[in-house]
Amino acid sequence: MCEQFFSKETGWNIHHIMRKTQGGSDSLDNLVMLHPNCHRQLHHSSGTGSRYRELIKA
Ligand SMILES: [Zn+2]
Repeated sequence: MCEQFFSKETGWNIHHIMRKTQGGSDSLDNLVMLHPNCHRQLHHSSGTGSRYRELIKA
């Protein structure tokens, strides 16, 4: 999302692109790694959320 690399220092979260409650699977094409900060931003702002979904389709 922010094009930063992951490291033990930054840490990461596994984000489900489609929520499991909405029928999302645990397969790799439904999972993405995000920094904890990016993950928080994604859930806080719906505007960047939709832009982000376009990014991961590309
Ligand atoms: Zn990030």
